[in-house]
Amino acid sequence: MRDEYDVVVVGAGPAGSTAARAAAEECDVLLIEKRQEIGEPVRCAEGSPGAVLLELLGVTEINKKWISSEINGFRVNAPDGTTVDVTAEMLRMEKPLGYVLERKIFDRDLARDAARAGAHVMVRTRATGLIMEDGAVKGVKMNRLGEDFEIRSKVVIGADGVESQVGRWGGINTTLKVRDIESCAQYHMENVDILEETLDIYLGEKYSPSGYTWIFPKGERAANVGLGVLGSKLNAKRPIDYLNEFVADKLPDGQPVELVVGGVPVSDLLKTVVSDGLMLVGDAARHTEPLTGGGMLPAISGGQTAGEVARKAVRQNDASERVLREYETKWNNNPFGKQRKRMYKAKEFVVERSDEELNRMVRAVHGIQPEELTLKGITMRVLKKDPKLMLMIRHLL
Ligand code: FAD
Repeated sequence: MRDEYDVVVVGAGPAGSTAARAAAEECDVLLIEKRQEIGEPVRCAEGSPGAVLLELLGVTEINKKWISSEINGFRVNAPDGTTVDVTAEMLRMEKPLGYVLERKIFDRDLARDAARAGAHVMVRTRATGLIMEDGAVKGVKMNRLGEDFEIRSKVVIGADGVESQVGRWGGINTTLKVRDIESCAQYHMENVDILEETLDIYLGEKYSPSGYTWIFPKGERAANVGLGVLGSKLNAKRPIDYLNEFVADKLPDGQPVELVVGGVPVSDLLKTVVSDGLMLVGDAARHTEPLTGGGMLPAISGGQTAGEVARKAVRQNDASERVLREYETKWNNNPFGKQRKRMYKAKEFVVERSDEELNRMVRAVHGIQPEELTLKGITMRVLKKDPKLMLMIRHLL
């Protein structure tokens, strides 16, 4: 086994595999993954917008193996049962609007692409620490099947997900406040009556305090059914308890065939995600979109940029924080980064809303017409239906 690479990537999720592929175009890359199978278990509801995913992957057509359902609309259910439905037709957007993916296959294919680009992939290999010299990261300490060893590198990319330790080991503060993490539980369910091609979202204290509950279709009569509860709202009742109540009320004939639990960061941008020799990407960098908790696309976008910047650092033989900061600056100025402040503000607003306020918000847009689906249209509608609500939401528009 080699004891030195240009770049070591820790974690083979979407962020890490994308970073490894991009870096491997020019560098010697090692991608390590602690699990024995990349992509499993899937800690994700697997929902993704369509056009942006294709753009980030640089393809014009989606690989059919990656999709379990096409999505062409969404429904939001208020606590009192009022709904609002939005479809691709209403938005006058091309179908499909998005997908529910098969991440078991998708994640593995991203890792395969990294391997085909030249990256060396090692599964069942856990990062246990970083090699630090004069405050700079110089490689990764790891354990594989009980054996400890070290691999030196010019650049380390920490793509180790929401429970990331790499950042902390490298001196980057990635601590999340309890109100900046959603604690989630999800079943993959069979034998469920679901809305076809629709992301079905439920709001309210009963099932998901300061979060939301989702039913995302996974083919015929199957769905990812899950919810998130804001960390600061957790008490003796666990997310799985809320989920069991939701399922008993709404999907009594459904059969859970898989359970996953996990956290989703819903924070503002961290002060920094780079240090000498180290870049953090994806959930490790807290890049998840805070209003929806969607993290796959920001992870892929960050992985691509980090891989490119790693190449440059290796070429220049300079992996100082100054050089690696180009990654952070580029990510903060991409569409995900640019919207972050606004999305965090929106999340902070939504998590504070009472059930009655959520009811009023959904009632105001219930029955919305296609021609009203603009900022102006929504503003006019809310002003007409519930002028006082406008005062509450004006700073979001
Ligand atoms: P991950 O996919 O978490 O990958 C990190 C990898 O690092 C893992 O494979 C892990 O095993 C590995 N690793 C960790 N530590 C080490 C170590 N020490 N050594 C080696 N390897 C290590 N996002 C969406 O876009 N759409 C959704 O519908 C959606 N639903 C979600 C539902 C739930 C219940 C949850 C929990 C999350 C959801 N997300 C969703 C978020 C999304 O799953 C993440 O944002 C995304 O997976 C982030 O990708 P990543 O590559 O940064 O991290």
